[in-house]
This record gives sequence, C-alpha cells and structure tokens, in this order.
Amino acid sequence: MENKRVRLRFAPSPTGGLHMGGVRTALFSYLFAKKHKGDFVLRIEDTDQTRYVGGAEEYIINALKWCGIEPNEGVGFGDGAHAPYRQSERKKLGIYKKYAEQLIASDHAYYAFDTAEELDVMRKRLEAAKVTAPQYNSVSRQNMRNSLTLSGDEVKKLMDAGTPYVVRLKVPRNEEIRFHDIIRGWVVVNSTQVDDKVLLKSDGMPTYHLAHIVDDIEMEISHAVRGEEWLPSAPAHILIYRYLNKEDKMPLFAHLPLILKPDGNGKLSKRDKSGIPMFPLDWHDERTGESYTGYRESGFFPEAFINMLAMLGWNPGTTQEIFSIEELIEAFTFERVNKSGAKFDPEKTKWFNQQYLRKKSDAELATLFSSIFEKDLAEIQEARYKTKDYIETVCKLVKEKAHFVNEFWANGTCFFIAPTTYDADVLKKRLTPASIDFIKQLTEAFKDLNTFTAAETEATFKAVAEKAGIGAGQVMQLFRVSISGVGGGPALFEIVELLGQAEVVSRLEAFSTNNVL
Ligand code: GLU
Repeated sequence: MENKRVRLRFAPSPTGGLHMGGVRTALFSYLFAKKHKGDFVLRIEDTDQTRYVGGAEEYIINALKWCGIEPNEGVGFGDGAHAPYRQSERKKLGIYKKYAEQLIASDHAYYAFDTAEELDVMRKRLEAAKVTAPQYNSVSRQNMRNSLTLSGDEVKKLMDAGTPYVVRLKVPRNEEIRFHDIIRGWVVVNSTQVDDKVLLKSDGMPTYHLAHIVDDIEMEISHAVRGEEWLPSAPAHILIYRYLNKEDKMPLFAHLPLILKPDGNGKLSKRDKSGIPMFPLDWHDERTGESYTGYRESGFFPEAFINMLAMLGWNPGTTQEIFSIEELIEAFTFERVNKSGAKFDPEKTKWFNQQYLRKKSDAELATLFSSIFEKDLAEIQEARYKTKDYIETVCKLVKEKAHFVNEFWANGTCFFIAPTTYDADVLKKRLTPASIDFIKQLTEAFKDLNTFTAAETEATFKAVAEKAGIGAGQVMQLFRVSISGVGGGPALFEIVELLGQAEVVSRLEAFSTNNVL
C-alpha cells in the first residue's frame, strides 16, 4: 500500500446538478491528490439509466472548471491510461461481467430470479413478522427463487428461457466485518446488518456496488473519498474486495461527514431557503422543471466558495480561516476532517466572499464592475463617470460595505446619477427651515472653495454649521440625502470629493429647489 501512487477519483452520477456537497467531496479528493503529487480522476457513474438527467455531465465538468479543481484525467479532461471514464462505456470492456462471474464461480454471488411482486411479498411477510430491517439476506434468501435454492437444472431452464435475473452478493451470516476509515477509524459491522446486494441488474448493467469496486481496482485508485451516505454499504464493499481476492487493491476509505442545515437539524437540502445557493452554477433540472441559482451567478468568487467549502467539516487546527487553494493543498489532511456533521452557515458564506472582495485590487474590481454593469454604464451620458480612474475610485469606496460586486451599483448609484427623489424618512425627521437654510449657506461656501478635497469640504461643512449655530449631527444626514438621495452609503466626504465641486453644488441647488418648505 505504501508504494501505491496516490490516485483519487471523483465519481458522480449524472442524476442531477452537482450540489455543493458533491463539490466538497471533489475538493477534498483534489486537495489530497495534489498534496501527494498524485492524480485526480473524474469518473462518470452512469449505470443507472433510469436516473440519467440530460446536461448533468456537462454541468459537473463546468462546475469543476469554475471551481478550479480540475481533474487531470477523466471525462471532459482528457484520457489517461484508464480510459474510458464513463461506466456505460466501460461496460463494453466486459469488466463488470467478468468480476461478477468470478464471484459466482467462487460461490460468493448467486443468480436471483425473483420478480418485483415476489420481492414485495417477501418484504410484507418480514414486516408482518416484525423483522426490523426486512431485507434479502442469508435468512430470507432461503425462501426465494435463486441459484442457492433452485437446482442446477432449474436455473439452467430459467436462463435458457430468458427469464430476467440479477446477480446478488452472498453475504455470510453473523460474521464480523472490520474496516478502517481514515476519518472514522476502525468500523466494525456484523454481516447480519448487510443485505445481499444486487451486483448486476437484469439489464446486465452493474450496480454502483459492483461497478465502483471494479473501476477503483482497474483504475488503481488509492483512496476512495465519498459521502457518509455510503458508510452503511461499505461492509458489503469490503466483502466484495475480499471475495475477489483484491484486498491489496482496496483503496483506503474516507467517508465525509454530512453538511447539515444551518440549525443543525438534519441534512442540508438543495431547496434550502437561506438565500445562499446550494449549487455552484445555475442548474435547471429538465426532468423536474426545477431551477436553482448558482454561486457563480449570485456573484460569489470561486476562491471564496472553495474556501468556505473546505471549512465545512475540515479545520486546519489553527485559527486561520482564509486559505488560497495552494494553502489548502499544503494544509489538508483527512485526519482533520470531523466525524460529525458540519453546519452550513449562510452568513459565514457571505463573509468569505467579502474577505475575497476586500483582497481584490480596485483595478480588478473596476473591471468586474464594468462588465456586470455594462448596460447601466451605457446609459450614463457624462464621460467622466466612465473613466477607468473614476470607476476604480467608486469601487474603492463602495467595497467597504459590500459582500458582492453585484451590490456596487445599488450602493453607489449616486456616483453616476444625481438623485431625483430623497429618502422620505430622513426628510421627515431632518427637513426644517433652519436645515434648508444651512444647505443654502453650505452651497455658497462650497462655491467659494478653490480646492475640493474630502478634508476641505468636511472642514467647510463644520464651519458653516457652527456659524449657523446648528449641530453638525443635525444636518449631516440631510446633507448626505441631498447628495445621494439615500440615508446610507460610503464615506460622505469621499463621495463629495469624487463627484467634484460643480456636481455637488448643482445637486445641493437642486435639493433646495425641490424641497421648499
Ligand atoms: N456515484 C456515487 C455517487 O454519486 C459515487 C460514490 C463514490 O464516490 O464512490 O454518490
């Protein structure tokens, strides 16, 4: 095992858009593979044709690309030595059948001919007998139609007649199954709790249980990282490796903890209503007609999304929270992944984006701003509002209070458009003959200034207030509203400096004209 090359796979089923839990599985696998200079493989597990959803595979590929966690081998990322990477195509290699036959030959698997109705009758019978977990197993299989209960002749007759059958794993009775999970340590399960899993379905397709094992063996996978929902099936998987005589090829397992709802009450659902997306990119499910918003389209930076995901269930053992992907690769170990579920925190998710927003240069933000608000900018007549320098300064001022670049226009409209309406609450509270008078005096004082910096305009503002015998605090918000129309926003005198003398004076005059008492 020590000498095995590190090879991890991300093996989603194209049954829908890849939700953030799936991205986290891919991320942890990617981080570990990169840390150990190994391979990261994308395998598409599409053996369940009935659950296939069009567009899902392309979505998975695009999502991994956007997140910057690209496999170096696999569907959409180029072939390596183990192509093809879609299980539907791998079936043609005959590998699944070959391994299933090996299990049958060694008496570790058998044919079962039971119809859906017969299985239903069995379940009802077991339920009536108060069996807690009714399942096809070492006890119940004795009453069913399979190659363990039927004679060789009968089996042959059924097969020759083309009767549909499945191949099931022959799980022994009352045997202890032990396996090691990198996150959970030793796990011990009694085989009584494990059912005789179907390995090959009647359409000849392998189930997940057989297919992923065959592929992990054939693709020389060293670590199988997957969601906690697979933990109950892991004992059956251990048996399959054992019965195939491939325990030396068995990857190390890491079952990741669930991502829980913000209140910790149950598994996070893709229909979570916190307002934070559950999918990396917009996803429209053509089967159900449901649409989900993506992190990308909501304005998240991929680095922020990835950083947030890494912290969902993993911790570096220090107080550091902001990690670049390189730092994550460096710091990541499965030993620091928690066993218990990780609570999703919508506010923290936004906080991560804010941290990355603050790290961007004003020039980068300006480029993003210009592309997001291209249409709005096109409607602005004044050329000076559209220069690179101007937009950069706007970004510098509005970024302080924002989580996303897409909030910049709403929070900084005043930098581009003079207000035509004014916050009614502020007017109600602050508009008096004295305050209007103050605005008029301020306008005159501003006209006289030779330079128009934030510091100077602020000093002038204070001096005029003092002369008028009015507290600066009494008129500050009214002044803000007269310039921007709204009661909150970036540092007021920075706005004033950026807009410039002529514009500020014109806005103040318009305000006094519009608000005659
Ligand atoms: N196809 C499985 C799923 O989508 C993959 C589990 C695994 O990684 O083994 O859940």
